[in-house]
Amino acid sequence: MEIGFNKAPFTGNEEKYILESINSDKISGDGEFTKKCHKWFEEKLQCKKALLTTSCTHALEMAALLLNIQDGDEVIMPSYTFVSTANAFVLRGAKIVFVDIRPDTMNIDESKIEQAITNKTKVIVPVHYAGVGCEMDTIMHLAEQYNLFVVEDAAQGMMSTYKGKPLGTIGHLGTFSFHETKNYTSAGEGGLLIINDNRFKERAEIIREKGTNRSQFFRGMVDKYTWVDIGSSYLMNDVSAAYLWGNLECVDEINHNRLENWQIYFNGLKELETRGFIKLPIIPKESMHNAHMFYIKVQDLKTRTALLDYLKQHDVLAVFHYIPLHSSPAGRKFGDFIGRDEFTTKESELLIRLPLFYNIKHSSVQYVITKVRNFFGD
Ligand SMILES: *Cc1c(COP(=O)(O)O)cnc(C)c1O
Repeated sequence: MEIGFNKAPFTGNEEKYILESINSDKISGDGEFTKKCHKWFEEKLQCKKALLTTSCTHALEMAALLLNIQDGDEVIMPSYTFVSTANAFVLRGAKIVFVDIRPDTMNIDESKIEQAITNKTKVIVPVHYAGVGCEMDTIMHLAEQYNLFVVEDAAQGMMSTYKGKPLGTIGHLGTFSFHETKNYTSAGEGGLLIINDNRFKERAEIIREKGTNRSQFFRGMVDKYTWVDIGSSYLMNDVSAAYLWGNLECVDEINHNRLENWQIYFNGLKELETRGFIKLPIIPKESMHNAHMFYIKVQDLKTRTALLDYLKQHDVLAVFHYIPLHSSPAGRKFGDFIGRDEFTTKESELLIRLPLFYNIKHSSVQYVITKVRNFFGD
């Protein structure tokens, strides 16, 4: 009765839709399910354009291409993030400029961004950690003041909002992931690029279609399609989109279920926080989150290692992440940490993610809570 860390969301109709897709005449990109998903996102997120991609990694790569990132350009982001946030821009020759995070949300510290801006800075990439929004008003204001672009890495943020606006729709571009570890998934890998600035609408379609104007051709806007720009193959196949559609149809059910289990963790571990053993996540009042993750922070690295071992002995698979990018071999080569690393390294060593996924049994959540409490002597 091991309690796994994650399970891909499955609501029941995914198999049916996958079969429908296979039996249609288009299982490659931009088939019927892709169109349904695009329409759903454009309505739900109120964005200018939504484009399904092969992954969030690729959506980030598309963003770097769209913004014409060149050798020597600087891109500001937190060091506490997944490698793809940085890699997408490094691939275009950019230098990554890491700034510290806030200890409350683990998001980029908006008050430390300005000191990292130079005349080479092109983009700020806020990462909405655990689906909790960064301080976007400050970030957008800085971007306007210094004429920079903002790409939101909202990989974890589907269905979350900041001051009522969906994450991913505030910056010029936003990216999402449908990897099986995220709240909503496609079959295989998958992602989404959100375009909030009309200037990028047409070129995004071209870059996604191998640098051709094939999308315009299909809409009857040009009479033959041809190579018009750089690009690559970033289309999600329609079978993957069919699985995603099954998830999206049950979006409220999935969101509600995750939030409910998140709250059970929170209530069950509150007393350990009161007694000073752990810290619980903090959700600023501007943010509505999506229960992407339930994490706790312990007092030191030794305690974290011991707690992870203890949970494993009791058949609970808890995990930690990330090794801050600025201290990784590639991060040292391609980036620089500007300002003091007050919280990134320290806080990243304290964090443990507990099992949380759609339809995890309440009894499993209770069991994990009991084991964490037992560890601290309860
Ligand atoms: C998951 C994740 C990604 C990568 O998503 P893929 O779809 O696996 O490429 C990028 N950034 C963050 C913050 C993520 O959590």
